[in-house]
Amino acid sequence: MALPHQTSSVSDLIAQHSPTQPIYCFSPVALQRQVDRFSDLFAGTMGYAVKSNPDPRIIRALGSMGVTSFDVASLNEVKSVKRAVPNARLLYDNPVKSAEEIQIAYNDYEVQVFALDDLIELEKIHAITKGDPSVMMVVRFKIEDADAVYDLSTKFGADSDTAVALLQRANQLGYRLALTFHVGSQCTRANSYANYIDEAANIVKRANVNLAMLNVGGGIPSPYLEAQLPKLAQFFDEINTGWNQHFAGTKTELVCEPGRGLVDTCVTLLTKVKHRREEPVVYLNDGVYGGFMEQIFSPIEHPVVHYKADGSAVTSSDKSAFTVFGPTCDSIDKLYYQPELNSSIAEGDYLEWGLMGGYGSATATVFNGFESNQYITVDEAFDYPSAVNEMLGEQNEPA
Ligand SMILES: *Cc1c(COP(=O)(O)O)cnc(C)c1O
Repeated sequence: MALPHQTSSVSDLIAQHSPTQPIYCFSPVALQRQVDRFSDLFAGTMGYAVKSNPDPRIIRALGSMGVTSFDVASLNEVKSVKRAVPNARLLYDNPVKSAEEIQIAYNDYEVQVFALDDLIELEKIHAITKGDPSVMMVVRFKIEDADAVYDLSTKFGADSDTAVALLQRANQLGYRLALTFHVGSQCTRANSYANYIDEAANIVKRANVNLAMLNVGGGIPSPYLEAQLPKLAQFFDEINTGWNQHFAGTKTELVCEPGRGLVDTCVTLLTKVKHRREEPVVYLNDGVYGGFMEQIFSPIEHPVVHYKADGSAVTSSDKSAFTVFGPTCDSIDKLYYQPELNSSIAEGDYLEWGLMGGYGSATATVFNGFESNQYITVDEAFDYPSAVNEMLGEQNEPA
């Protein structure tokens, strides 16, 4: 089914096109709001982690909103960012790259910023960039501290002693120097950032080098309904305070590269009810092999809006807890939690799931022949429940 590039609202999309496939609805207005919030709160340069949502619409929109630093982890991400935002600065922050990947990124795509967390990778990059003083060696380090739904420190990150040695070696070879860390995705404790920035300052002092950049990574959480989170502003307060304490007055550039936290609010996923059973159970046209992959790992609860087949929103308060299955033949293909849905929900109705911008379409497969990758741009912003707006720091409309 051919969809237009753009529609005025999700309700219009249903009324005029009755989509049978899952559709990701992207709101540039909602993205602009989140970019503005982050820019107001963050004292440094705001980047974006492409892996959370590599859709070209989103990359282009971010570029037009002034986000020009992109964390990339593969050559395909390098290429797609270069196509969408030609003046982008690419931060190749995957600490493990093949020599061929480094060579192509450096020679063909002018990538100059490379992460590493061991000496093997440092020497691999050095063999290709040969002491080019515009190249930046970014040492990824870790501490045993972070409190995140997805702990990323078991795969990457040098301990502090190694980080000191790596900075000193890169300095000796004539490169620009940076430190980076990742507190883990969907970080729930704001002071994790402060702890990491403290340790970054220790490492720099011990290495006795000049740091060109401190990249505080991603991890800013999204206000899923089950989450008990500090407010968005608190995460940036911790970062800015730690920064001011240790790095104010230096020439070090402060950078962040959130993924989920930046793009989650600007995409909803519109699904269709394929089947209804009394139990109460519904079967949707998308599930964990599509946009809901994170349901396999964690009980993320998304805000949901229910529409009839004519596009009218259902607001009845007669609700029940539903088991929600996806379309594949695998029994793990169901939501981790049982959302409260209107008891009248029927085959042919639609459910629009909010906070789907990060790791939704990005991780969808075509298992069992079901695709989950179509986007449409919507003019409207989305209405989120008050708990979501509160975490973001928005005033709620008086009831
Ligand atoms: C995944 C990743 C990010 C983004 O993480 P979010 O939790 O989506 O903010 C940032 N930096 C690096 C190096 C990453 O691997």
